[in-house]
Amino acid sequence: MPRVPGLRGRLKDIPVLGQKRVLLAAPRGYCAGVDRAVIAVEKALEHYGAPVYVRKQIVHNIHVVTELEAKGAIFVDEVDEVPEGAHIVFSAHGVSPAVVNEAADRGLHAIDATCPLVTKVHREAVRFARDDFEILLIGHEGHEEVEGTAGEAPDHVTIVNSPDDVPNIDVRDPDKVVWLSQTTLSVDETMETVRRLRERFPNLADPPSDDICYATQNRQVAIKKVAQDAELVIVVGSANSSNSVRLVEVALEYGAKAAYRVDYASEVKQEWLDGVATVGVTSGASVPEELVHELLEALADAGYGDVSEVKTAEEDLMFSLPKELRRDLAGNREERALGGRTRTAPSA
Ligand code: SF4
Repeated sequence: MPRVPGLRGRLKDIPVLGQKRVLLAAPRGYCAGVDRAVIAVEKALEHYGAPVYVRKQIVHNIHVVTELEAKGAIFVDEVDEVPEGAHIVFSAHGVSPAVVNEAADRGLHAIDATCPLVTKVHREAVRFARDDFEILLIGHEGHEEVEGTAGEAPDHVTIVNSPDDVPNIDVRDPDKVVWLSQTTLSVDETMETVRRLRERFPNLADPPSDDICYATQNRQVAIKKVAQDAELVIVVGSANSSNSVRLVEVALEYGAKAAYRVDYASEVKQEWLDGVATVGVTSGASVPEELVHELLEALADAGYGDVSEVKTAEEDLMFSLPKELRRDLAGNREERALGGRTRTAPSA
């Protein structure tokens, strides 16, 4: 059943030249870091009871946030909005040490749902700062992940928003610079930024491994393939989801004549489908698959019921829950086990 009332039949089946079809990119949707963060909030609600506070959107998807709110999560911008002693979850995008310290000062019980692949970049920033490198952090100023990473070494980090920023960068020692990046950027644009940085700073050091994460890269590779054969690409994802917005850009660069991002299938406009035989579909790393299914249902109503998956990679990565939560859940299990033994002891 479609989630949005009145969705069925909203789009009309209008004839076009050629066979109507959908190319469905894979991988798409939830990555391991998002899955872990969302489950962390759900488990925290189950274990500690509502409300559980979450600093910033746990992942950048309005549907996920709304569903968690309905279960008792309260989303706040900063830790000073949280009552002392309450439980707070840090989002998948990570936080700076200043935020961690502020939460501790307020006596909050923090559960750190920062994606381990973001934590990896934090560690790189700490290490390069310790070795007195100047860090050129490629990423979008104001994005939570960039704020968190930069906050690990504020005196050593310069943010590079795009290739066009490169001529204006000043560094203390051009032989002691390294680049790092946000995890959810366009691979192609980031490589162009690095190329220009290296032109200016030939001794620019590289990060020890890719900072743009596997999920971002895989979703971009898949949509590049789809976009070559699709007149229209629809990306399911929220406006503040960096990796979703990048998928729209990548689709346009790789051949789609038009590409749009929607939160819900109900946002698809009839005119987008005018004369379109092949629609490409994908979703960002924070998007539940049910939203893609709703889009496919709506497209089927418009005659695009023939769906072929275009798979460019397999994904099976999973992360364990945040350690604070694992510890408390394990404690709970132990207590239950102990309670069971205590109760059975007298009759033994
Ligand atoms: S998009 Fe990448 S870095 Fe971000 S949560 Fe997912 S796996 Fe982690």
